[in-house]
Amino acid sequence: MQLHGLSAHELAHGLAAREFSAREVVEDHLSHIKAVEDGVQAFLLTTPETACAEADAVDQARAAGEDLPPLAGVPVAHKDLFCTRGVRTTCGSRILEDFVPPYDATVVARCREARLPVLGKTNMDEFAMGSSTENSAFQVTGNPWDLERVPGGSSGGSAAAVAAGEAPFALGTDTGGSIRQPASLCGIVGMKPTYGRVSRYGVVAYASSLDQVGPFARNVTDCALLLGTIAGHDTMDATSVTDAPPDYVAEMRRGVDGLRAGLPKELFGEGIDPAVKSTILAAVDKLANLGIEIEEVEMPHVDYSLPCYYIIAPAECSSNLARYDGVRYGHRTAEPVSDIYDLFSKSRAEGFGPEVRLRIMLGTYTLSAGYYDAYYVKALKVRTLIKSDFDRAFEKYDVLLSPTSPTTAFKIGEKADDPLEMKLADICTIPVNLAGLPGMSVPCGFVEGLPVGMQIIGKPFGEPEMLRVAYGYEQAMGWERRRAAL
Ligand code: GLN
Repeated sequence: MQLHGLSAHELAHGLAAREFSAREVVEDHLSHIKAVEDGVQAFLLTTPETACAEADAVDQARAAGEDLPPLAGVPVAHKDLFCTRGVRTTCGSRILEDFVPPYDATVVARCREARLPVLGKTNMDEFAMGSSTENSAFQVTGNPWDLERVPGGSSGGSAAAVAAGEAPFALGTDTGGSIRQPASLCGIVGMKPTYGRVSRYGVVAYASSLDQVGPFARNVTDCALLLGTIAGHDTMDATSVTDAPPDYVAEMRRGVDGLRAGLPKELFGEGIDPAVKSTILAAVDKLANLGIEIEEVEMPHVDYSLPCYYIIAPAECSSNLARYDGVRYGHRTAEPVSDIYDLFSKSRAEGFGPEVRLRIMLGTYTLSAGYYDAYYVKALKVRTLIKSDFDRAFEKYDVLLSPTSPTTAFKIGEKADDPLEMKLADICTIPVNLAGLPGMSVPCGFVEGLPVGMQIIGKPFGEPEMLRVAYGYEQAMGWERRRAAL
């Protein structure tokens, strides 16, 4: 029986009804991974033995009549920056090539408690810096819709795995768009929850005030299910909020009646491919037909998001990545060294790739005495202005709508030598991280055979409203039934 095309909720129903076993589900996904991975290259590592053992344990528990969590036996894949106990976690970097964490990230532990067998660890841009997954130190991932194109990034491996049917759902992180942009380019659903909704404990840090963990899935229901699995307070992450998350699936089904949406003019401006723009506007029309009240809204400071982000994110990265010094863990140079500083600098120069080195240097510069106020402090002030644009808009609207990515998937290598073009890939997603808001991407059509995603932005902890809009739209359109033909 072919099980890898089924969605997570279909798998969960079939498992509960004993139509198939968790072992069969895992084995079918593993053999599909074998069949397509030569082309897709979404996984840095698969864990077939432990996945099968986890599946067997679920099957045995079910046979023994034990109470199981609702998704028990549905497999998942993890971006390779979540610490997984006993399983190599590279963050796409040579510097962590042999790093085996002694503990699980909280999100990994929650998936374990929910009894989701783990298929493996997925490819990513080194330290989550990038928009195409080409910055991985290990391999280039192909977009399942066209293997010569990028899957987006930085969580490109997770997005490609889900789009290719290698996993029903997967986890990623989003600092400036790294869940939503690859979801858009791969034609799947991806959500960055509100900052604080999901624990970052055990997640390799890039820019701590922006990083957030979230789900990838092929439909909105599965996205809500995986969000519900990972959301909630964690004493190990002081930024995680204490109030209990709602039942996202129940919320999602409440319909779109009475919801109001704003279209930020600035997110439809220059740089958005005209064909992408008209696809989004057609989706917006559809939402209006479904009864959502829609208006244009001005958010003047949003135009400063990219420069603001590229001061704050590198500043935080230069501080976070200082810990990779070749002493406690990670790569250490084999070259002769004259002193401890020489050891640090040789180990770091060998271990980090060019984009990471560039960001560390940029961040160190903007944090240095004399430039701190001129760059870093100023960027923080601009960030506050951007956030207040959103606060004002949300006095009137429940959600905001925009393109997720200004273009569809670009060719591998096409933007690799053009850092500005690459950074513009996140022009619509970055403002959402700066404001700490939730955002998601849902498939809304195709341009020349390549998927387009619509971004739905929510208020702080407004995931329920976002999911209502996304689900209402999905029910009306059925884009999720179109799959990449591999
Ligand atoms: N592309 C952006 C960057 O390189 C965002 C990456 C992310 O969200 N992790 O920083």
